[in-house]
Amino acid sequence: MVMPSVDLKEAARSLLGLDLTRSQLAAFEWYSQELQSWNERVNLTAITSPSEITVKHFLDSLTCLKAMNPHEGDRLVDVGTGAGFPGLPLKIVCPQLKVLLVEATEKKADFCRHVVQGLGLQSVQVVHARAEDLGQDQQYREQHAWAVARAVAGLSTLAEYLLPLVKIGGRAIAQKGETGPAEAHQAEAAIERLGGHLRRLRPVELPGVADTRYLVTMDKVAATPEAFPRRTGLPAKRPLGS
Ligand code: SAH
Repeated sequence: MVMPSVDLKEAARSLLGLDLTRSQLAAFEWYSQELQSWNERVNLTAITSPSEITVKHFLDSLTCLKAMNPHEGDRLVDVGTGAGFPGLPLKIVCPQLKVLLVEATEKKADFCRHVVQGLGLQSVQVVHARAEDLGQDQQYREQHAWAVARAVAGLSTLAEYLLPLVKIGGRAIAQKGETGPAEAHQAEAAIERLGGHLRRLRPVELPGVADTRYLVTMDKVAATPEAFPRRTGLPAKRPLGS
């Protein structure tokens, strides 16, 4: 199905109450063009039409704000950011955030660096690494007020990637599709074991997209036991609680 063209400014206002500035809109326009042009050489995303990029990448990323109240200087980590989602759209709209983008595939991390440089974004670090390694590194462990991820792993696995990086009092947000409620139910014990608490599931609708999406929010209420995250590969191979 061809998606009708969507006006980002209008959609961000009606869906999220955001009033995007001209320079933010210009940043999204440039980002979209670079994504399309890089995607011809490097496999970054299956979503390639401008309208789909607007809705399924930009707007969808920005819906995380429904579960956030970012403060000046807060650190946000985006695990498995791919071509920068949701971390870069959040940074464009909330320039006061200090953002860490984590991506295991080097070419995708390169693209993120290109966008950061091209848009002149300050206080964004892109690391080509695995979440399991950063979670055991004191430089990153329990340092972030916010951890976000979209389309990276099942929720138990994702909780083991995200929660070790979140400081106590912070929050992890997983962007999920139709399976959100079932995954949340299944991952609840794993989340508790990691020092988290499943807070809520918030349904999100996107214009022209039939499937309901969910923001699964997990509060960090206690320190993550040292054993977590386990070594690289294990959280995905043997998800906690299964
Ligand atoms: N979040 C982006 C990309 C999703 S694809 C989006 O929604 O468009 C999932 C990405 O996560 C891939 O690029 C993959 O390389 C990365 N990834 C998977 N497991 C990871 C891990 N343990 N640490 C870091 N990156 C990971």
